[in-house]
Amino acid sequence: MHDATAPDSVPGRDWVHAAIASLQREARRSADTHLLHVALPAFPGIDFYFKDEASHPSGSLKHRLARSLYLFALCNGRLAEGQAVVDASSGSTAISEAWFARLLGLRFTAVMPASTAPDKIRNVRALGGECELVDDPASVRARAAALARHGACFLDQFGLAEQATDWRGNNNIAESIVAQLGAEAHPQPAWIVCGAGTGGTSATIARYLRYRGLPTRLCVAEPTGGAFAVGWSSRDRSAVATRPSLIEGIARPCVEPGFLFELVEAVIEVDDVESIAAAWLLRDIVGGWYGGSSGTNLVACLQLAEAMRARGERGSIVSLLGDRGERYAQSLFDRAWLAARGLEVDAAVGRLAVRIHGR
Ligand SMILES: *Cc1c(COP(=O)(O)O)cnc(C)c1O
Repeated sequence: MHDATAPDSVPGRDWVHAAIASLQREARRSADTHLLHVALPAFPGIDFYFKDEASHPSGSLKHRLARSLYLFALCNGRLAEGQAVVDASSGSTAISEAWFARLLGLRFTAVMPASTAPDKIRNVRALGGECELVDDPASVRARAAALARHGACFLDQFGLAEQATDWRGNNNIAESIVAQLGAEAHPQPAWIVCGAGTGGTSATIARYLRYRGLPTRLCVAEPTGGAFAVGWSSRDRSAVATRPSLIEGIARPCVEPGFLFELVEAVIEVDDVESIAAAWLLRDIVGGWYGGSSGTNLVACLQLAEAMRARGERGSIVSLLGDRGERYAQSLFDRAWLAARGLEVDAAVGRLAVRIHGR
């Protein structure tokens, strides 16, 4: 007689268990990301810290998200052996999801805007992923959902980012930062600054700060006119971006499900040329190449620090380095590419250098 309680009565459960164990082993093999301390000459008494999320094996903070999305799909019974996996992504998430698909032996397709940096597309393909390029960036999610109706597992970064992460702990990005600051001069930062793409990072950090009863405030650094900035002040979920941005990973065209406006205490808008110049300056300040969203964060940090300095406050400000700058060698770090778009990066670098060095 068939025994409905026997472990083998759930088809495919062994594979799911093995896949989850594989993700757990990967997490265990990975070291935590560095929290880099930066002292800027113009800000005595204010410590800056940058969490190096580019140092994950798949090159960006989306490594954390991809791991969480696969675990979420597996634990919710939405992903089984041999099933194809799909998601909509402007690049970084697709690279991380392709990386984990390879780890788990699954076929992965990324639906991405045709305008995505060529290096990122190459990255996904090098990891064995397929890229389906669509002309209208606003249609990527619908296209991925359509593929899922034919049997693929839709990881759905934009729909699920905010739910898939363990916000109370499990070494999420916020718990890691707070632990790493433990012995610093100002272990409870005045501000944490991050961008909003899916909104997952800001939601996780904000929830954790409340959960732990910390006084730290959360600031979203947003390219000027991005949907988070437009919608935040009036809590308008139907807001749309008022201008496009060259900064990948953030600056969404519309309000994403993971944008939790009520958890964010400040939004600072940054023009693209300033973000790009700041990414250039990060090479001198922290000694590595980081992408445009890291530059956006740096500019917002400077603005917050200037306000602290004006009030005579001391303390610390923490931000993130979201991805590797090498991905933008042919775009944000290419003078000809910038000139073709009318971006005068050298002048912007000069302006920021004055704010950083105080002269
Ligand atoms: C996704 C992304 C962000 C924003 O993080 P979310 O958690 O998705 O809001 C910032 N920088 C880069 C490079 C990203 O890829």
